[in-house]
Amino acid sequence: MKFRTKSIHVGNQRDPQTGAVVPPIHVASTFVQPGAGEWGEFDYSRSGNPTRKNFETTIAALEGGSGALAFASGMAATHCATMLFSTGDHIVAGTDIYGGTYRLLHKISNRSGIETTLAAANDLDALEKAITPNTKMLWIESPGNPLMSITDIKACAAIAKKHGILLGVDSTFATPVLTRPLELGADIVMHSATKYLGGHSDSLGGALVVKDQELFDRLYFIQNATGAVMAPLDSFLASRGLKTLAIRVKEQSKTAMYLAEKLAADSRITRVLYPGLSTHPGHDIAKQQMDSGFGAMLSFEVAGGFEKAKKMAESTKFFQLAVSLGAVESLIEQPASMSHASYDREDRLAHGIQDELIRISVGLEDAEDLWADLDQALSQ
Ligand SMILES: *Cc1c(COP(=O)(O)O)cnc(C)c1O
Repeated sequence: MKFRTKSIHVGNQRDPQTGAVVPPIHVASTFVQPGAGEWGEFDYSRSGNPTRKNFETTIAALEGGSGALAFASGMAATHCATMLFSTGDHIVAGTDIYGGTYRLLHKISNRSGIETTLAAANDLDALEKAITPNTKMLWIESPGNPLMSITDIKACAAIAKKHGILLGVDSTFATPVLTRPLELGADIVMHSATKYLGGHSDSLGGALVVKDQELFDRLYFIQNATGAVMAPLDSFLASRGLKTLAIRVKEQSKTAMYLAEKLAADSRITRVLYPGLSTHPGHDIAKQQMDSGFGAMLSFEVAGGFEKAKKMAESTKFFQLAVSLGAVESLIEQPASMSHASYDREDRLAHGIQDELIRISVGLEDAEDLWADLDQALSQ
């Protein structure tokens, strides 16, 4: 089966009782057992739920994994991965990562004595140098957030293998439509299902997908023991989202490419960060590890500094001023005052996140309407 067929036919069997082509949403918290001490497939919804299982089955197939676990949010999924480790263990993570992951690693995992070192993941030497004898995992994101840096996943997998450590990839921006990290040698793929997988800004969820059964069992044990599972309604919405994922991501990527080219040719813009542009430093690697598009996230710097960029972000009509991403609605935000406002200014600038940086999530609206919207906002 090819990708789109899997997204519709794996994990989505018709209901045998009624013939309904869409499986019902199972809200039951508990399940009747065949006998005392005998267990059916499901017993209690934290441990397993049929609606959640359907989503897990589909996303595992799309990523080329052997199993997936669905969580209440993307952060719950990442947290589960970090709970594989204990005091004295060390994680190396990229610098261009989701702010919430930075916070989890530096303000929660460190309390259990798990230390994190950040290194620029697009500089493989720097990344490898950060590995110590107690390093247990490399954690990367490609494209990165908010600078759209590209990390060579295959090369990172080789480094992880050489040092006998795990490679985890937050693949929220790329989705399995564009990149399948397990095929490139990663051990764990993480998704915020809140973004492209759900795709409609109406549910919250996360997922971990793995190939190795022993690793799956360890993660399942932690998930069941700690309990941050995806709820049945969110599981249904995530499953429904997957059915249109390929179409949405390809179309949104096409529009993003169109807007990136328009912005790159515009004198009101000083810099465009989009891996589809040949001027992007990660373009060649992006071409190798991203199929059929370069994603629908892009960032750019507006000439005129913070106030000009702020005014622009506040003046769009179709691009709504909000954090989050990956849905059919286009969104716009200014990292300096929104998604990355928790950084000190110095630290933020040191990470390359300028005051005049704008990040957009390109939705499914008409490309020309979206350009007209950016154009008028830039003239404000
Ligand atoms: C949103 C996001 C997360 C966190 O997911 P939640 O569902 O908000 O918990 C993690 N990584 C990336 C890249 C994200 O965009």
